[in-house]
This record gives sequence, structure tokens and C-alpha cells, in this order.
Amino acid sequence: MKITIDQLSKIYPNGNRALHDVHLEIENGMFGLLGPNGAGKSSLMRILVTLMKPSHGKVTMNGLDLEKDRKEIRKMLGYLPQDFRFFSKLKTYEFLDYAARLAGIKSGKRRADAVDRMLEEVGLFEARDRQANRLSGGMKRRLGIAQALINEPKIIIVDEPTTGLDPEERIRFRNLLSTISTKDVIIILSTHIVGDISSTCKSMALLNQGELAYSGSPDDLVEQAVGKVWLINASEREYQEINEKYPVISNVPTSEGWEIQLVADEINGYNGHAIDPNLEHAYVYFMESRLNQWTAG
Ligand code: ADP
Repeated sequence: MKITIDQLSKIYPNGNRALHDVHLEIENGMFGLLGPNGAGKSSLMRILVTLMKPSHGKVTMNGLDLEKDRKEIRKMLGYLPQDFRFFSKLKTYEFLDYAARLAGIKSGKRRADAVDRMLEEVGLFEARDRQANRLSGGMKRRLGIAQALINEPKIIIVDEPTTGLDPEERIRFRNLLSTISTKDVIIILSTHIVGDISSTCKSMALLNQGELAYSGSPDDLVEQAVGKVWLINASEREYQEINEKYPVISNVPTSEGWEIQLVADEINGYNGHAIDPNLEHAYVYFMESRLNQWTAG
């Protein structure tokens, strides 16, 4: 599978510019789309699932044109939107059966098989008779992904799936996606949570204010922040100054003052040393260095 996005832009009728000249190639496996709120992630997702047309640019999926071949493309897609809701009163398996009907699986036997298989795959078989809207937050998300997968899509698009989940459920959901991504499919995971990306995605993109700020592997992004993340022991007086000057990642009080983690090209005379960056550090470094805030002072 391959998705090619070329010169994609979106301007809403009210003049909001959500995407600007985005170029991206996405191949098999799990792809992370990371960016702060308002970066343009949902706009890009909505374009990819054919719910909205771009203002400019072209998208192809396995050679099919998003504009001209909408019907065929829709058959390849599975989508879990951010604000996914269940119809009241339906039991878990009834809901999936309904989703299977919508996906065009006409034979009752094939539908029943698909529903059972999906319930097993997402770990909801035991909960099949429970009312869907009474499931826990994590179970609802898993049922959401089950409905997106019911017709064996080749491209699966998941928008902010772990928002509101506790850490255990978040890990479980991530592991579920990464199991699916071993097949011949593309999974696009859109999120503002850095931790959702690091452990599961072999490639990723960073969107900022509608523009593509980075695309590549999470490891290469981290590599760019080597030597740029610092641990500083600061006095109370320095603490104020540092907070004004640098993008600070964390502050921990110590007996002598503060232990501060920050990102910067250099720390001009403060008492500290560079530490190994992780993806969260790299994300902050990347976003901040583009804004060029700390060199201004
Ligand atoms: P994200 O998903 O990264 O939070 P969005 O794609 O939702 O970003 O939003 C990108 C930009 O487009 C924001 O400035 C947002 O206010 C604007 N936007 C999103 N949807 C609409 C809309 N329907 N009409 C006008 N502006 C919109």
C-alpha cells in the first residue's frame, strides 16, 4: 500500500488556513501524525477519508485518485473519528453487525463470522451482549476500531484515539493497532500525544500551523535533538531567568534550588549538562526551534 499526498492545501470558507502545501508519502505499517491542537491533523484526516475536498493538491492511494476514484477508495478505508458515538440501546455485537451491514457485507453468515472475529481481535467477545454505550472508555474505543476494521480495510485512519483513556487502556489500544499494522495495511494515527507515537510508529510526520514541519522516523527526529536537551541545577534567582529565556520541559525543586530540563542550542554559563533526548524532548526542540524563541533574547 502507498499513499501519496502532493501540494495539499485546505482553506475553509471563513478564510482559516488549515493545511498549506503538504507533501507526504506513507507506506505500509503504522504512521504517526503528530501536532498541537489546530495544526491541521483532523482536516487532513477528513480529506483522506473523502469527507472533505482539499482546496488544492492531489492524493493518490495505491495509484487511485482520491478525487476521481472516490468509490473504490472508500472500499479500502476504515475510519475511527475523534468523536465516535454509539447508537443507544444496541448491544456490542448488534452494533458491529450494523457496522458490517453499512460496510456492505450482505450475507448474514459472513456478517456473523466477521463480527465474532472482530470481537475476538479487539478483546470484546466476553462483552458482546453488553449495551455498547455502557462500555468503559477503553472498551468503546476498541469497539470503535472494530467497526473501522470490519470490512478488512487496507487503509485505517484513527483520529486522536487515546484521548481520555487511562494509561493501561492507552497501552492496550496501542498494542492492538500495532498487531494490526503487521498486515499489508497502512494505519494512520493522528494524535497530539507524543507518547502515542514513540513506541509504535516506524515513520511519522509533524504538522504545525498547517505546514509539514518534519517527516521521517521517530528515531531520526530524536537524533536531531542530541546535544540540545539540558539538565540544569539552578538557584531560585536563575530559575526565574531560565523560565523566561528557554523552553522548559520540567522543573523539580531540590534542596539547593531547582533541577530543570530544557531545550536550547546552548546554556551560556548555567550549571548543567546535555542529556539523552527522548521523542518528547525532540518534539519540543523541533517546534521551539522553528519558532526560534530562545535565541531572540
Ligand atoms: P487539529 O486536528 O490538528 O487540531 P484541525 O484540522 O481541526 O487541527 O484545525 C486546523 C485549523 O483549521 C484550525 O485553525 C481550525 O480552527 C481550523 N478549522 C478546522 N475546522 C474548521 C471549519 N470547519 N471551519 C473553519 N475553520 C476550521
